[in-house]
Amino acid sequence: MTRQPVWHQRADVVVIGTGVAGLAAALAVHQRGRIVVVLSKAAETATHYAQGGIAVVLPQTEDSVEAHVQDTVAAGGGLCDPDAVRSIVADGYAAVADLVHDGARFDESSPGQWALTREGGHSRRRIIHAGGDATGAEVQRALDHADTTLDIRRNHVALQVLRDDSDGLAAVTGVLVVNQDGPGLIHAPSVILATGGLGHLYSATTNPEGSTGDGVALALWAGVPISDIEFVQFHPTMLFDGHASGRRPLITEALRGEGAILLDAQGNSVTAGVHPMGDMAPRDVVAAAIDARLSKTGDPCVYLDARGIAGFERRFPTVTEVCRAAGIDPTREPIPVVPGAHYSCGGVVTDVHGQTELPGLFAAGEVARTGMHGANRLASNSLLEGLVVGGRAGRTAADHAVAAGPRRAGLPESRRHDALDRADLHRAMTRYASVVRDADGLHRLSDTLATAGERSALTRTDFEDVALTLTARAVAAAALARTESRGCHHRRDYPDTDPAQARSATVRLAGRDDRSGEVVVETPAAIC
Ligand SMILES: Cc1cc2nc3c(=O)[nH]c(=O)nc-3n(C[C@H](O)[C@H](O)[C@H](O)COP(=O)(O)OP(=O)(O)OC[C@H]3O[C@@H](n4cnc5c(N)ncnc54)[C@H](O)[C@@H]3O)c2cc1C
Repeated sequence: MTRQPVWHQRADVVVIGTGVAGLAAALAVHQRGRIVVVLSKAAETATHYAQGGIAVVLPQTEDSVEAHVQDTVAAGGGLCDPDAVRSIVADGYAAVADLVHDGARFDESSPGQWALTREGGHSRRRIIHAGGDATGAEVQRALDHADTTLDIRRNHVALQVLRDDSDGLAAVTGVLVVNQDGPGLIHAPSVILATGGLGHLYSATTNPEGSTGDGVALALWAGVPISDIEFVQFHPTMLFDGHASGRRPLITEALRGEGAILLDAQGNSVTAGVHPMGDMAPRDVVAAAIDARLSKTGDPCVYLDARGIAGFERRFPTVTEVCRAAGIDPTREPIPVVPGAHYSCGGVVTDVHGQTELPGLFAAGEVARTGMHGANRLASNSLLEGLVVGGRAGRTAADHAVAAGPRRAGLPESRRHDALDRADLHRAMTRYASVVRDADGLHRLSDTLATAGERSALTRTDFEDVALTLTARAVAAAALARTESRGCHHRRDYPDTDPAQARSATVRLAGRDDRSGEVVVETPAAIC
């Protein structure tokens, strides 16, 4: 199959993704009266699987935007942009109110009073939730039904963002897409990447199967930088059931918020003496503590003892169900858990309106790097960011489309695409770029990635392998360049944090005309 388009279409805005960020964006474009086409390659989104909730400061409570900002910045290991955090947190309540207007229902502690829980790194109870621990399913349901006239195309894979540099002013002109009819072009002056995360870089992850780093690759090919990509967050408590790989169930952090404790196989606390917040420390701290304990004991997993939580099955129906499916009764026995690849703290560099450095290209949600999460995301800040920045990106992209006027995309450029076999990629990433890394392993990973062979990227699977391979190159290069430990990035050979590296590293493709797929890192030192 060739990459030459066999069908064409026009829109004002193309949104790639139907999770929280994509749908919040698409609804905002639609409300502005512009033509929006929404693409999705898969039925599942990470949004649907979110358990714990949405961190939001409710008015007229003892909580404050400033307290939420401080907690977020403290978790972010010195790399958050406090102005970006403040801007996003401050709009959280309004975005949640819009979601409620769209039909979302959150759990209440008394009539008209939302129930608030706590998660790691939060100094207050400020997490709203739905269906106990099924918040994401409720958010997805509300957004899916908010406007049934939205033009959503399922089984459409975005392959390339098209840009035009011919008159000296770079601009987006559309997207190359493949569906059951073959490749096609959607001509549009605004494109929003809302493609989610990259958990499937690793053999076991909490992410759905479509989380393959597509947006990172699309941005790099379009000449747009990514940042903080070395900070892959490993959730401390992914259900451990032997050697299973692929998407694995998450055991929400809210269990610890309600009193569950982390123990090793000998019954000793995993986090005692590690951090003043103990089991409620930020995720990077808890995941690293578990990893260190497992290395020391040689055990395959640690345990989350939630037997003390009253009304467990009512409060945590999703966790109850996934545990029972694995033959574990969480009300009678501790739950076996390990850290699992969960969230990309970095991504496509944008401002707080989702604007990238390429006019007409926007990004929102997990694929974006707004400066909200820094080196480590605070629990339940992701749905919040997706809602707020998704909506803003939609409004800004709609306005850009009006200002830019209709666009006609040229033919897609041909580019060499490399891919490793998925199993080889998983083995190398899991072994060398997990919770703890070192130079030797990262060099081995880079060597493995250099053996990737040329692949046409015209089917979903081939495209995902190509995107994963390029994203893995970016993670490996950024992780190698950061010669310190900070946030989610732990270097065995550089265990300390280096104040001189308290800057975000940026990754770009070696050159837009370079077809090798090599990436270059502008290191923190170079930026300084
Ligand atoms: C198990 C789990 C629990 C979580 N719990 C919480 C929580 O309690 N609170 C919280 O704040 N966060 C939580 N998170 C994180 C949060 O859910 C995600 O970060 C967030 O939902 C991501 O939303 P998104 O819109 O960016 O992407 P997603 O919801 O992942 O949607 C991505 C979309 O992009 C589409 N797509 C991708 N590539 C392409 C392509 N090339 N072409 C076409 N379409 C494409 C996919 O089909 C999909 O529609 C959790 C995550 C997981 C996995």
